[in-house]
Amino acid sequence: MEMLSIETSSAQSVTPAYLSDKPAISIVGLGYVGAVSTACLSKLGHRVVGVDLDHRKVDQINKGISPIHEKDLGQYLAQGVSAGRISATDDLAAAVRETDVTFVSVGTPTAEGGGCDYSYIEGAARSMAVGLAQKDGFHVFAMRCSIPPGTTMKVMTPILEMLSGKVAGRDFGVCFNPEFLREGVAISDFHAPPKTVIGTTDLHTAQIMSRIYEPVDANPIITSIETAEMVKYVDNVWHATKVCFANEIGRLCKPMGVDSHDVMDVFVQDTKLNLSPYYLKPGFAYGGSCLPKEVRAVAHLAENAGVDLPLISNLANSNQEHINQAIRMVRATGSKKVGVLGLAFKPGTDDLRESPVLEVLAALQKENYEIRAYDEAINSETALLAQVPYIKHASPGLKSLVGNLPYFLCDDIEDVLANSDILLIAHDTPQYRQLAHRCTEHHIVDLARVSEPMPEQERYQGIAW
Ligand code: NAD
Repeated sequence: MEMLSIETSSAQSVTPAYLSDKPAISIVGLGYVGAVSTACLSKLGHRVVGVDLDHRKVDQINKGISPIHEKDLGQYLAQGVSAGRISATDDLAAAVRETDVTFVSVGTPTAEGGGCDYSYIEGAARSMAVGLAQKDGFHVFAMRCSIPPGTTMKVMTPILEMLSGKVAGRDFGVCFNPEFLREGVAISDFHAPPKTVIGTTDLHTAQIMSRIYEPVDANPIITSIETAEMVKYVDNVWHATKVCFANEIGRLCKPMGVDSHDVMDVFVQDTKLNLSPYYLKPGFAYGGSCLPKEVRAVAHLAENAGVDLPLISNLANSNQEHINQAIRMVRATGSKKVGVLGLAFKPGTDDLRESPVLEVLAALQKENYEIRAYDEAINSETALLAQVPYIKHASPGLKSLVGNLPYFLCDDIEDVLANSDILLIAHDTPQYRQLAHRCTEHHIVDLARVSEPMPEQERYQGIAW
């Protein structure tokens, strides 16, 4: 991930001239996001010019009246207007000329066909470019709309450059600064944000934006524009996933006479595995003796109770799709000799039960691939046979694989390398990591992200990165 290292509050750093004052800020779009930003940034001491095409909103802001229902917003706006720090206009070009930073918070409704409607961003960018062309000095455009990754640089920035004749990164700065405030408590969230994200590759812009947010968050996360754009979508999809998950648990608990709130009260107290970063990094499919079995068990309970749980009962489909992707990636190399590093469902165990990489091997075996496999925790002495009955019933494909497993297994990892063209790396261990760098002739299908950063070579492919 691209990261800029920025000192936001070092006592020893010399503050550049452009950071010494509170920059004047224009805010395009005075809806739920823009009106709250106008009020809160003025509260932090900035002069703020709000801009909207809707004259009713412009008039209301100029009178210090909230255009929307939001706790404390009216009071903040009234204070800002009477202090002379807030004004509103429909003239976006003039607002850009008169300010140092422009926050873009116009609407991005769903377009016909389900995509994103860029027309409001494009319209605003055209007017902003006019203002930019007419002003001297550096100006920052902070995109705040929820948009697909790439939109800031591919939709807004080209319009700004083309119509102003200026160059992004040199004459003006661009960043993506997502908005995470919850409607209803947006003002209090502004002062205690869950996080502050500034997506930019331009140090000057990152410094200006960091300084604006310093009173509420001295440690903003500085990342690439595209990562910041995607984070906003991912956050909201995650929140929606949580809501649907909790509601499915509730629908399942009710017919069984179990209190769903009691269950979730206990569930949320586990901040090591449940509400934590654990299990949240893309990697390979889930497996092992517990997860697949218990997901099946819960789906079965729901079926018996006549309860439809689309999210939970589709987890196995989602997992299978990840396994299918690994199979497609091996096929795409064009070679037929595959060496597998890591067989168990995770490193550090010899437990093969429902290990998802076995499903990959079962499919490849059917297609007559030559297979060699190595696992640091498994060798010819490992009691594989004891696991065979369990594996056999996990999936039909595995029935024919298990008999051949002992022949695929190598005790020496060098045998795997010598007899394969493709390395399928299923575990992240220091040994496999080192091999991934050494084996420059092999195709590598990396299911565990053993290389950081990933080599930019066609022969090296990560499953989800
Ligand atoms: P909104 O529809 O309430 O407000 C958008 C405003 O932009 C409207 O008042 C419209 O008149 C104005 N506008 C459109 N084109 C303009 C132009 N060329 N010049 C001046 N004004 C113009 O939208 P919103 O809910 O505030 O959301 C704005 C963006 O922020 C969207 O991309 C949204 O997805 C995102 N977002 C919203 C929330 C939220 O809680 N509502 C939270 C985070 C992000």
